[in-house]
Amino acid sequence: MTRRGFLKVGGGVTAASLTLAAIPADTLMRASGAARAVGQRMPNGVELPATPPRRKRPDSVGFAIVGLGDYALRQMMPRFAQTERAHVAAIVSGNPDKLSRVGDAYGVPPDARYSYETFANIASDDRVEAVYIVLPSGLHADWTARAFAAGKHVLCEKPMALSSAECEHMIAAGRRADRKLMIGYRSHFEPHNLEAMALMAGSAVGPLRLLRTEQSYRMGPTSPSENWRVNRALAGGGPLEDLGIYGLQAALYLAREMPESLSATTFRPAGDPRFAEAFAHVASQWRFPSGAVAQLATSYDSSGTNFVHARGTTGALIMDPATDYSGQRMWLEGGERREISPGDPEVQFARQLDHLADAIRDGIRIRTPGEMGLRDLRLIEAIYASAAAGGTVRLNPDGTMRH
Ligand code: NAD
Repeated sequence: MTRRGFLKVGGGVTAASLTLAAIPADTLMRASGAARAVGQRMPNGVELPATPPRRKRPDSVGFAIVGLGDYALRQMMPRFAQTERAHVAAIVSGNPDKLSRVGDAYGVPPDARYSYETFANIASDDRVEAVYIVLPSGLHADWTARAFAAGKHVLCEKPMALSSAECEHMIAAGRRADRKLMIGYRSHFEPHNLEAMALMAGSAVGPLRLLRTEQSYRMGPTSPSENWRVNRALAGGGPLEDLGIYGLQAALYLAREMPESLSATTFRPAGDPRFAEAFAHVASQWRFPSGAVAQLATSYDSSGTNFVHARGTTGALIMDPATDYSGQRMWLEGGERREISPGDPEVQFARQLDHLADAIRDGIRIRTPGEMGLRDLRLIEAIYASAAAGGTVRLNPDGTMRH
């Protein structure tokens, strides 16, 4: 994605241009050159399976995993052992050592191990029907386009991309190729979050008034050249796209309406190499048409937290931790405190993979489609636009900014 492409979000002053205005130009030039898939070493602490996961059904969908990083190797690939209808058919990496070790451990034949350079050959590999993109976020749009060009369905990690313009291109490419596009919003497959959606739809706390979410951790010493998560070309603004997007999602699926306006603030401490390009914190306040208000905060520079509070006229729903990989806790307050434990959070990973397989085989509607990712990027752009302009941004029902 060129810098000019990133700035073009439909003419006039855009969220992206306002955001980028806050970053020194020389930093941008350096950052934009870095948005390219490059092999990395094996992440620390990866345990490869002793025996490859078994394919369970004849109609199982073969996935190619693009990007063998921390999330792919430590979370998602091991979960194929728990899927019903999805299996690892190919791997794609820029690191030959990882291709060999991960390929052997997962039983991927040598001719189904691709490099970034040979990826286009996957078009004629019938073992692969879906491509799972687990690359740094600034590479999602490009690699989704490549996967559609190869005629495959796509599961793309969150955030869908770094701008709404990129999201629109991805959706259009999927339509042209007549292939499915799903975003890896795993909370839509996690029992506590699903139960929270049902409770809020059933007005368990009365009409919603106040919603708060926080997602944060303190990042150790690093810089944009060492860590893509603080590199603007690969991560956008930083914590909002990475962690805060869980709070943004929860605010939307619990309030069950789109905000009509929002105001926001961002912070970058001077002289800290971690935040030469990314923000340390991003906070926003939303007003919904019903009168409910949401406050969202996310940080790469404060002690760890991940909660959602939804407070209505008769009680509150508390989720803490709200959207982790495991260990979710949730309770209702107001009257007697009631703990709610609807199931094991760790099913979220395999269910997400099976969901795309079901959509491919049975044509079921995708719960987390590209349009949802686009909606969220529009809100992220509105947040950055508000912070850059120092004022309230009014929104259309589809999340675009009203000018
Ligand atoms: P990571 O740094 O551990 O892995 C990224 C991998 O991408 C690298 O190992 C490498 O194989 C590949 N890569 C290719 N080009 C690269 C480049 N220029 N710079 C760095 N890596 C490059 O990151 P991760 O934590 O695995 O995150 C990957 C994606 O998954 C991101 O989009 C992230 O937002 C998403 N993610 C989602 C969840 C979730 O819960 N849904 C959790 C973690 C990460």
